[in-house]
Amino acid sequence: MTVFHAAQALLPGGWARDVTIRADAGGTVIAALPDTAPPEGAERLPGHVIPGVPNIHSHAFQRAMAGAAERRSPAGRDSFWTWRETMYRFVARLTPDDAEAVAAQLQVECLEHGFTHLAEFHYLHHQPDGTPYADRAEMSLRHLAAARATGIGLTLLPSLYRHGGIFGATPSPGQRPFLNDIDGFEAILARCAEAVREMPRARLGIAPHSLRAVTPAMLAHFADHPGPIHIHAAEQLREVEECLAATGARPVEWLLANMAVDARWCLIHSTHLTGEESRGLARSGAVAGLCPTTEASLGDGTFDLPAFAGAGGAVAIGTDSHVGTAPREELRQLEFSQRLRSLSRSIAADGASPHPGRALLDAVLRGGARAAGAPLGAIAPGTRCDLVELDGAHPTLVPHQGDALLDAWVFSGQSSPVRTVAVAGEVLVRDGRHHGHEAIAARFRAAMRRLAA
Ligand SMILES: [Zn+2]
Repeated sequence: MTVFHAAQALLPGGWARDVTIRADAGGTVIAALPDTAPPEGAERLPGHVIPGVPNIHSHAFQRAMAGAAERRSPAGRDSFWTWRETMYRFVARLTPDDAEAVAAQLQVECLEHGFTHLAEFHYLHHQPDGTPYADRAEMSLRHLAAARATGIGLTLLPSLYRHGGIFGATPSPGQRPFLNDIDGFEAILARCAEAVREMPRARLGIAPHSLRAVTPAMLAHFADHPGPIHIHAAEQLREVEECLAATGARPVEWLLANMAVDARWCLIHSTHLTGEESRGLARSGAVAGLCPTTEASLGDGTFDLPAFAGAGGAVAIGTDSHVGTAPREELRQLEFSQRLRSLSRSIAADGASPHPGRALLDAVLRGGARAAGAPLGAIAPGTRCDLVELDGAHPTLVPHQGDALLDAWVFSGQSSPVRTVAVAGEVLVRDGRHHGHEAIAARFRAAMRRLAA
């Protein structure tokens, strides 16, 4: 049994004071009681406690490229597609040891900023020439090893990647480390399932990479999977145009018409949607997995949040390429992109929830739990005891309270007011630092120097 006592905590019914939070030995909340005195032995959290935020889209290895793919190319027409070529050259150097060191560093950064669960969309399966490692699941297992070391919750999403363009184009040499046929992919899934069974904070889903990488037959093969099922969709206009040319439908339109898209699914990006696609996706119960800083970095475009939210659509946030690793940064970019697009303010807020910081947090906690396939996103009985304590005395937050404090957290300041982070009742971050911060950073530095040599 673990017991916390929070001076203020965001419960499903709103902000409450003097909250005793009890978790069982497995790290599940069994009670969250406001207006209570601190029980003996309780871990005191004197700040403002919010539920841990799920990060629903990660390619961990790309943390090692963050900031290193900005230089203008000689041709001067830089885009997602030129960035992708840089990424292909980079993965040709990455060993399993490097991948684990980078994943652990990323996970520590995420935890220190208030993400307590990561959905790892994992497609870097093989050696640079495409030869599988002796254990075909080696790279997947390295992400689980990193999660065991850092304590973060993980939804591992091995990615099926077979082709180099819409419905069957030949892959390029740079894509060889990603490729599997169905049998090879099933072998990876089986190994991962075995490993995840031993990890109570881990879940296993699948990720058909995109309509650029799998065929309709491959998608149909996994149609009955219990989920989560994640897929990249409609990130780039070129992808939309290629899909239209090949199938007569746009990517999200095609998925909605041909697959049983429902709450098991998370469509990553969903940037370029027609009104009809937006309403259809919202109706399906699938989550739109938004990655605001990466989408801005890659020049993808802007998601139409008011249209999707107005239709009752569920959203979640991910850090994808990890140019950002903080929930506040993703939420800030998401709201700011909508303001620039609509020439107005407070887009995520409405009459019921006038603070956009609170409205955004509520939305991504709900959608994030669904996309992660785990009991997350609330401080309530039955959920995992993932807590993030914000220091109310931090210069960014003082003297705000309640939802106004969430606005201050999301929309102002740079230094992080996250003080304490617990996952499944275990405190991993104290005074803003993860317990393994130094050792994991040292291993990451060594990997980065080797990669740059
Ligand atoms: Zn992605």
